[in-house]
Amino acid sequence: MKYDRIWNFNAGPAAVPLDVLEKVNETWFNYGGAGMAVMEMSHRSKEFDEIHNNAIALLKKLMGLGDDYHVLFLQGGASLQFAMCPMNFLGEGKTADFINTGAWSTKAIKEAKLFGNVNVAFDGNEVDFMRLPKQDELKLSDDAVYLHCTSNNTIKGTQFFDFPKSDAPLVCDMSSDILSHRIDPKPFGMIYAGAQKNLGPSGVTLVILHDDFYQKANHDNTTMLTYKIHIEKNSLYNTPNSFGIYFLGEVLQWIDGLGGVEAVEKINKAKADLLYGFIDDNIDFYRGPVAKDSRSWMNVCMRLPNEDLEALFIKEGREAGFNGLKGHRSVGGIRVSMYNAIPLKAIEDLVVFMKAFMAKNG
Ligand SMILES: *Cc1c(COP(=O)(O)O)cnc(C)c1O
Repeated sequence: MKYDRIWNFNAGPAAVPLDVLEKVNETWFNYGGAGMAVMEMSHRSKEFDEIHNNAIALLKKLMGLGDDYHVLFLQGGASLQFAMCPMNFLGEGKTADFINTGAWSTKAIKEAKLFGNVNVAFDGNEVDFMRLPKQDELKLSDDAVYLHCTSNNTIKGTQFFDFPKSDAPLVCDMSSDILSHRIDPKPFGMIYAGAQKNLGPSGVTLVILHDDFYQKANHDNTTMLTYKIHIEKNSLYNTPNSFGIYFLGEVLQWIDGLGGVEAVEKINKAKADLLYGFIDDNIDFYRGPVAKDSRSWMNVCMRLPNEDLEALFIKEGREAGFNGLKGHRSVGGIRVSMYNAIPLKAIEDLVVFMKAFMAKNG
């Protein structure tokens, strides 16, 4: 392949579109006649201001967000939002509902407990996180400030397409599937995502706040952990990850150029249909442990007949030009992370390899 690249199925940081790498490379020494690279610019310069505000505007366009949403580019990853969100929205006597669908939700719950009451409305531990809850299984509280969920469970490979319903606004960790399919933003009070899976480089965290929800925030936290400060300063209270925001903006332009989220969704569905279809047709050799109606389009987990074959699959896969096939260390098996930047061709090539591997070892 071009530049001797391989198919990269890393879970995060993950593949970014080659077109974006090439475009960024063209501006590496001199961005748009500024005489310097983006990372050398002042975050208060005219050039960066335009890059930053264009990224916000394009994100709003792609997600169908109106003027009643605030878009922030912060640091600290999704992991900091696990704490920052309850710090700003909970407090003495306040409750949040949580749906626990995996390791990331579990971490979010742990942090929230430091700032208020947590009601676990569904505990996926009981099903080993192998399926998502149905609406009538949720034990919601009457007075929740918000309902937190994780849209895509990167480690076990489950994903919400129909989001849970609540009278309270939804707060959602979309780190591993943001912009991968269309969503209706209306129920969401807050969406957050580390950029390193579907939006570009690590080190930028996207935070989207609906204004009605934001109006309920408290503002008496330490400065850097107060949404009000970042909203009033348009994410420029301190130095942001300026290069990361630039790169993220280029990824958004790439999505826009493909035809927006609708077009990306079609490609992601085709990838998922192909890979899950192949797994289901060869159930004696490749087995998908996740419940069919909860399967993720982003992280496809599978097991082979034994662990020796799984190790061999990963080794021979690497030699054949497929990287990152090892399942998360807590789960084992095989995981194919196929975020937006992974083209259908990569999955077609992988299925050819899987067929040959099965013929040899089945
Ligand atoms: C990767 C991931 C995280 C962790 O993000 P950081 O940016 O490393 O803090 C959190 N939630 C989900 C769903 C993830 O996939």
